Amino acid sequence: MYKKTLTVALATGLVLSPMSFSVDAAKPAPNEQSDHAFDNKVIKKINADSMYNNIALLSKQPRAAGTEGEYKAVQYIKSEFESYGYETELQPFTIQEWDGGTSAISFNDEEPSFDVNSFEGSINGSVTGPLVYVGLASASEVGDEVEGKIALIERGSYSFYEKIQNVYDKGAIGVIMFNGEGRSGNSFGYAYEGQDIPAVAITREAGLSLVEQLQNEDVQASVSVTNAGVIDKTSYNVIAKKEPHPKKDNGQIVTVGAHHDSVPNGPGANDDASGVAATLELARIMAKTPTDTELRFVTFGAEEKGLVGSYHYADTLTDEEIDNMVAHFQMDMVGSRDAGELIMFTPDGNKNLVTDLGASAGARISGAVDYGQLGRSDHVPFFLKGIPSALFIHAPLEPWYHSPDDTIDKISKEKLQNVAEIVGAAVYQIARPDTPALENARVAPSPADYDFDDRPL
Ligand SMILES: [Zn+2]
Repeated sequence: MYKKTLTVALATGLVLSPMSFSVDAAKPAPNEQSDHAFDNKVIKKINADSMYNNIALLSKQPRAAGTEGEYKAVQYIKSEFESYGYETELQPFTIQEWDGGTSAISFNDEEPSFDVNSFEGSINGSVTGPLVYVGLASASEVGDEVEGKIALIERGSYSFYEKIQNVYDKGAIGVIMFNGEGRSGNSFGYAYEGQDIPAVAITREAGLSLVEQLQNEDVQASVSVTNAGVIDKTSYNVIAKKEPHPKKDNGQIVTVGAHHDSVPNGPGANDDASGVAATLELARIMAKTPTDTELRFVTFGAEEKGLVGSYHYADTLTDEEIDNMVAHFQMDMVGSRDAGELIMFTPDGNKNLVTDLGASAGARISGAVDYGQLGRSDHVPFFLKGIPSALFIHAPLEPWYHSPDDTIDKISKEKLQNVAEIVGAAVYQIARPDTPALENARVAPSPADYDFDDRPL
């Protein structure tokens, strides 16, 4: 699950594919019993232990995009798909990452005992001048006395941008910021284009000791940042394809996806090793299940960096593929013991084929599933291509989202099993060979009543 909302992209008034997926109420409903029988072909084979074990394996270390941890995960996922018999492809793409380079500070010509880190976006440079404490560096706190000096700033109350800009406008030559109340560490901060002074971060304890030192004596400070800048790294999507039965091929493609990358400081057991494990499990089962639809199981890289992998994947699709893609199911954070109920999110907040199928499968298995409006995961690039898509997730989120505590011990096998059953049954409803191609099919023969829910994450 990606942190920022994608409201800008969605405000452009995109129109969904003109294909109509609505359920025609005039036709007689097929026997619900037979749907249960078909569901059972898939859901009886789902093994929560195998999903749990895969999450345990994937969450042994963080899998941030472009790191060794991601690459190990990618190799593992590829080998799993291949062991089920899939033709599997690694799709590399470039991501841009900030490299902080080397930074150093000194006071009265002595190197301090504490470490320092450059701000993301800091310019490279070395400056020396008197140190001046300017509190939180609000506009009213910063006067002309900072000119030609290095500003010591406390984090908090105002944005990094404002703080740096306030001292920069008054002629400061460098920034040393110490962490805010209740915060630990010395790795934080953003500098922006045009803020042409080096900016570095130190711990709160280090900062408070400098404030104290300044009350007793003048301090001459030096700040240097070298070799900081944007570097290119490689992240990957893993793509496994299953061709339909050659005599039954109806030309449709259905995709099932999750993201394998995690945030840098977390093992990402639920976010989103859970979705990867469910994707692998459905791939394992579908490998031996005849379908009339091409299935693609994809795990995306760099989701946490702004859906980079899924945008890349969507951009590599041909027009013909996009025309043939009838549904994308995204599973992100589907196993947390401590999160809320299952919900299906669409970027525009409208129902579509995927939510119809998910609600219907849910009603048959454990109760109808509500839908809501949210981007923030890899269903967005599919939606923007006009492909019906939805995010399956539990909301509200668990408190350890994006933290080092997103660990295997907080995964619920029951929740994993339930989501895999619902998505598996929904996918099979389209892909099973007895249903005609989608344009003619009543793909949700037991339509469920399901409601919009504006439940927060
Ligand atoms: Zn996330």
